[in-house]
Amino acid sequence: MPYFVKKEELALELDKHRAQGKTIGFVPTMGALHDGHLSLLRHARECDVVVASIFVNPLQFNNQKDLDQYPRDLKVDREKLEGLCDVLFAPSKEEIYPNSVHLSFNFGALERELEGRFRPGHFNGMAVVVSKFFNIIAPDKAYFGKKDLQQLMIVRQLVSDLNFQIEIIGCPIEREKSGLAMSSRNQRLSKAGNQIATNIFKGLNKGEIAFSDGSNLEDIKTTVTSFYETIEGLDLEYCEIVDEQFNLLKTTPAHGGIAMCVAAKVEGVRLIDNVYLRSQI
Ligand code: AMP
Repeated sequence: MPYFVKKEELALELDKHRAQGKTIGFVPTMGALHDGHLSLLRHARECDVVVASIFVNPLQFNNQKDLDQYPRDLKVDREKLEGLCDVLFAPSKEEIYPNSVHLSFNFGALERELEGRFRPGHFNGMAVVVSKFFNIIAPDKAYFGKKDLQQLMIVRQLVSDLNFQIEIIGCPIEREKSGLAMSSRNQRLSKAGNQIATNIFKGLNKGEIAFSDGSNLEDIKTTVTSFYETIEGLDLEYCEIVDEQFNLLKTTPAHGGIAMCVAAKVEGVRLIDNVYLRSQI
């Protein structure tokens, strides 16, 4: 699998494919690959050429310790990508950020709550790097996981605001057998911590059941939050019910998707997950 660290060399390689009329699918990642990432690559197979990137983007970490502790193993990642991806881009920090960045995005209500509130600067850093990658790679389609639902919605907004000619595909959340959403950060959990973390999805399931029983949103939130409070070792950051514009909901709107989103820490590891209580599609 061809592997590039320089953006100009990657662009030349992709130009060759484009000249042959081939479509390009792009899957951005921060590495420490798991089956969630690999499922995005499988979705991208609908394109002729699948490009993956591995780049731990310092700009989207608002916590230096989280950045330092982020798992990295390029050799293992390259082995996992064999057969699933045609071109790998794994640039250095200097390659992507030769100069300091002054650009600043404002996604309005979309980034006001949840991750935007608890990780100030996170979506700005994400949008900067995604924009740079979109310009370097110029894919036809790019694939993002619904695990990072707010990120997916912000990327869609970014593409619309900046007229990127790229179709954004949202892919389902891949889970462990226990229900725990796959995440690179799960590697940092002990066995006991992993067990505790499985309660994140169990709580969301309680929310789904309460919603299908016709409970109102405030009661659903109380049920789920109270459940999390009983779990020793699970430190809830937020549990919110939102529409697809990421407005907090207190009552059930007549139309549109409704998602329940959670962030919690287990053994100091920050984990997020969500379920759709009502899907638009
Ligand atoms: P990351 O490496 O964490 O930045 O994630 C790269 C991409 O993989 C993002 O689009 C994530 O939403 C997606 N992703 C991460 N975990 C999962 C998962 N469990 N299921 C599906 N997609 C995922």
